[in-house]
Amino acid sequence: MQVLHMNKGDGDTSYAKNSTVQSKIISVGKPIMKEAVLEMLCNNVIESMGIADLGCSSGPNSLSVISEIMDTVEAANRLLGRRLVSEFRVFLNDLYSNDFNNIFMSLPAFYDRLKEEKGLELESCFILGAPGSFYSRLFPTNSLHFVHSSSSLHWLSQVPAGLESNALKRLNKGKLYISKSSPQSVVDAYLLQFRNDFSLFIKSRSRELVAGGRMVLSFMGRSSTDPTTENSCYQWELLAQAIMSLAREGRIEEEKLDSFNAPYYAPCAEEIKDEIQKEGSFTIDRLEAFEIDWDGGAVTDIHTPHGKLSVGRRVAKAIRAVVESMLESHLGIEPDVMDDLFIRYGDIVGTHLSKSRTKYINL
Ligand code: SAH
Repeated sequence: MQVLHMNKGDGDTSYAKNSTVQSKIISVGKPIMKEAVLEMLCNNVIESMGIADLGCSSGPNSLSVISEIMDTVEAANRLLGRRLVSEFRVFLNDLYSNDFNNIFMSLPAFYDRLKEEKGLELESCFILGAPGSFYSRLFPTNSLHFVHSSSSLHWLSQVPAGLESNALKRLNKGKLYISKSSPQSVVDAYLLQFRNDFSLFIKSRSRELVAGGRMVLSFMGRSSTDPTTENSCYQWELLAQAIMSLAREGRIEEEKLDSFNAPYYAPCAEEIKDEIQKEGSFTIDRLEAFEIDWDGGAVTDIHTPHGKLSVGRRVAKAIRAVVESMLESHLGIEPDVMDDLFIRYGDIVGTHLSKSRTKYINL
């Protein structure tokens, strides 16, 4: 996992670390976000703080990040003995297809909790939906102070050009993403798509954030400049193996696998820095990579048959939740074949992880 903490500066493109400010901050839980909020508030009173969570999804976690930001502001108020923010304008963004209704339905209980736990009145907190792609402008110029996004920016705006399901040539046969056996043209197409998307993201946010505003991003990445490194792509490699095993039995058309490429990219730190540097209005305070176990570290007896089975099942369940709808629309398979696919995937993952503990890299 990479965490990118960026400060919208005055055009300085150096990556200077403001270690004096950072070292003053004590953090618990998600440390980067709290530090970023505190640094932004340091010596600043903000009358109406604009906050955006990009790729908020619709589960119970959608509002937890907002709650955390407000807690941090409250902590800063207490520390400095004065109210630093008079009101919050909170924008929850996701794609048009996101189930915003589900989030909106949970708002009354959320507002009640804000009042009970933080003493915040309804008229000081405005939570709004902001549907649309974060690879475009979403908010008015200079309207935001703090932008947060987690586990979302590894999704590209589209399948890279030349790798779409209707492309004339099948460039990435038998694979779903960049693989050791992928031709260079596939690697190039993915990088180009990432560059286009990420630069649009940075440009858009640069217009929307006020000077001195902060952005904290966290998404899947990789540890090496080599995009075929295991921690970048192996979850897709094993999923392709599971699909291939069903194709060999005639239960999935092999052509369906050959024509599917995931709209996903796990960049390395250098690729991220390049785009930020090109745009020029952000200073990177931190760019840190975290290793995360595929199963979240839940299974400890991984070398026993039971551990192997349960780690495989856990990973398969998590990956299924994310990719099933994509596969469903592309592969067009019956539910029982989908079930079998993820049972096989779980077995393959369990066997792999019992031999080699591949991790995700979160930037
Ligand atoms: N932020 C949440 C949810 C991450 S799931 C968390 O950390 O748990 C990823 C979310 O990103 C999905 O809801 C998906 O719809 C959204 N997403 C993907 N591409 C997007 C885009 N271009 N614009 C806005 N949201 C996007």
